[in-house]
Amino acid sequence: MEHYDVIVIGGGLLGCFSLRALTRYKIKAALLEAREDVCTGISRANTAIIYSGYDTKPDTLKSEMCVRASHSFDKLCAELGVRYSPCGSVMVSFGPKGEESLKKKLEQGIKNGVQGLRLLNREQVLELEPNLSPEVRSGLYAPNAGTVNPWELGIAAAENAWDNGADFYFNTEVTGIERTESGYIVNAGGLVFAAKGIINCAGLYADRISEMVSEPSVRIFPDAADYYVLDTKVTGYINHVIFHESEEKDKGLTLVPTVDGNILLGPSRVDAGDKNYAFPSSSEGLNELFRLVKEVIPGLPMTQVIRSFAAQRPNPYWVHTDPATGAVIREERSISNFTLHEDGSMLGFISLIGIKT
Ligand SMILES: Cc1cc2nc3c(=O)[nH]c(=O)nc-3n(C[C@H](O)[C@H](O)[C@H](O)COP(=O)(O)OP(=O)(O)OC[C@H]3O[C@@H](n4cnc5c(N)ncnc54)[C@H](O)[C@@H]3O)c2cc1C
Repeated sequence: MEHYDVIVIGGGLLGCFSLRALTRYKIKAALLEAREDVCTGISRANTAIIYSGYDTKPDTLKSEMCVRASHSFDKLCAELGVRYSPCGSVMVSFGPKGEESLKKKLEQGIKNGVQGLRLLNREQVLELEPNLSPEVRSGLYAPNAGTVNPWELGIAAAENAWDNGADFYFNTEVTGIERTESGYIVNAGGLVFAAKGIINCAGLYADRISEMVSEPSVRIFPDAADYYVLDTKVTGYINHVIFHESEEKDKGLTLVPTVDGNILLGPSRVDAGDKNYAFPSSSEGLNELFRLVKEVIPGLPMTQVIRSFAAQRPNPYWVHTDPATGAVIREERSISNFTLHEDGSMLGFISLIGIKT
């Protein structure tokens, strides 16, 4: 049996950074990852944006952390030797609903303490982003937004933890956890581990890990997103992260000038069905992206698409067990803020479930 002070389950961004943080202390720590390497789950396929923080509800833990992170992300990346592009973002509207929404987001951002936010008129938007459709009506500029390569970021955190003495076990899927008087026994990949503490960062499957030792309280019901990647021949076609605030609910487009010089565009919003890290792209979602490009940035050379990919979002919901039937019932709305939920019977077991940003 391998003995550790703390075991981290899952080697995505959350697992790699949790492990790195643990190695600042004099403790023996290890990371158990089901797959062959770090960052092969949600952390490999997302929009790669460091948000400025105007989009989160004021006075929430999520808004506080988002704003704090946007102020210090450049330092973190420099510390890890990872590329960071502080390109800023501009959210653009094409109609009255979008314009109204931008004004509300400005107010919200000011409440959240986001610095440098500015409403722009049509001419100012086109000055920043001349290739946008001339139909654009207004914009909200946020200088503190940026973009990274999330995969590179996770690998750097993992390597730093490795340099600091942490152990890694790949192809080591956690299949069972037992509580003992002094901590936890973990069965994974044919090995047995003992640990005083566990940090559960199993991404889409964090609910399953948590339910190995406790009753269901939060479950993940994913939805899915499609993306296109354009060749580096389009470098410079956009200068900022562009958020399209659509007149239709949940139909906006995001364009990202990546640190590698490509343009990433997406995400569509499609049904996901069952959890699956290898979720395939959908023609429905990709067609929708094409339609939105025509509306928002019609000259974007879509002949330069070099690939598409899809990803699942780990949407968390509170659930409870019906005492009569034993069925697990979920609440109607997903949990949108970061919520600290304490279960006194689970000392030393921390689950990071459904972290979407
Ligand atoms: C479509 C989309 C767009 C996004 N855009 C942004 C964005 O622009 N900006 C932003 O900040 N965030 C964004 N996010 C959120 C961000 O990507 C996630 O918060 C982050 O990647 C979550 O990382 P994770 O470590 O929780 O999960 P993952 O990266 O999925 O890592 C979990 C790991 O656990 C492993 N695992 C699972 N089960 C087990 C087991 N039983 N035993 C051992 N290992 C196990 C998996 O193999 C996986 O490697 C986006 C997410 C999505 C889906």
